[in-house]
Amino acid sequence: MPWFSYHGGHSGQYCRHAKGKLADVVRTAVERGFTHYGLSEHCPRDRQQDLYPGEEDLGPSGLLQLFEEYMDEARRLQEVAAGQLNVLVGFETEHLPSDTWLDRMQGLRAELAPDYIVGSVHDVEGTWVDFSPEMTRAAADAAGGFEALHVKYFEAVADLATRLQPQVVGHIDLVRKFDGEHAGFGPRAMAACERALEATRAVGAVLDVNPGAHRRGLSPIYPLPAILHRARAMGVGVTLGDDGHGPHDVGVGLDACMRAIAEAGYTEVCYFERRDGRVGRATSPIEAVHPARRSPS
Ligand SMILES: [Zn+2]
Ligand SMILES: [Zn+2]
Repeated sequence: MPWFSYHGGHSGQYCRHAKGKLADVVRTAVERGFTHYGLSEHCPRDRQQDLYPGEEDLGPSGLLQLFEEYMDEARRLQEVAAGQLNVLVGFETEHLPSDTWLDRMQGLRAELAPDYIVGSVHDVEGTWVDFSPEMTRAAADAAGGFEALHVKYFEAVADLATRLQPQVVGHIDLVRKFDGEHAGFGPRAMAACERALEATRAVGAVLDVNPGAHRRGLSPIYPLPAILHRARAMGVGVTLGDDGHGPHDVGVGLDACMRAIAEAGYTEVCYFERRDGRVGRATSPIEAVHPARRSPS
């Protein structure tokens, strides 16, 4: 009975907007019945203007050093947990700066040999779209309106999926994070989203079904039901990611993600397993995914 998550494992040890220790994230995953758990800390950004708030004192070089320490500790915990929990060590990408992101992501991948990566976009043309409503509005103003912003965001996701070929595409509609319960996309944005779904399918990646913003009462699960329905019709696979930012978040909201997946008509869910240093992808029928975790809630 697999129970899994592949986007998350952020911890206060290696991420300034997360809490707790990475060892406690892994320990909590064991306690909460996970069989497989992916760690995907944010990749370091290499320009001062791309630091997340709170990273100013680290600077790009300190951030890189911290990230390398994360990879070492994650690998150590992977060994410690072996036999109890199939831990995958990866990272979550960025799509900036526009001219060098791909070289940088591929460089990290070559140097650190992660088990997998979560391909995520958090900006449109250099402005974060997941930081505050005000910043997202500024990005929309610069783009020529919200639908134009949505189109640009999905185009960036498609570009990232095609060129980087991640195993998982993170929160594919993050751009509507601050749109609340009534979030939705216009026809041009949905067409662009469909191109991002097609790019995801074409490279054999799967979608991260993610309760990050939902858990905080901000926004429905990523992706919205309309996108998940379309993805299912197109044959795009799905997996789970709690997008946890500390031990307290481990697995929280994944029951709702499973319901969203089932409501979209999926009958199976993908997961990843590491054996002898190699990572393979498997599928599980929905009804076999840790049913104890999906009792009424
Ligand atoms: Zn984060
Ligand atoms: Zn993210």
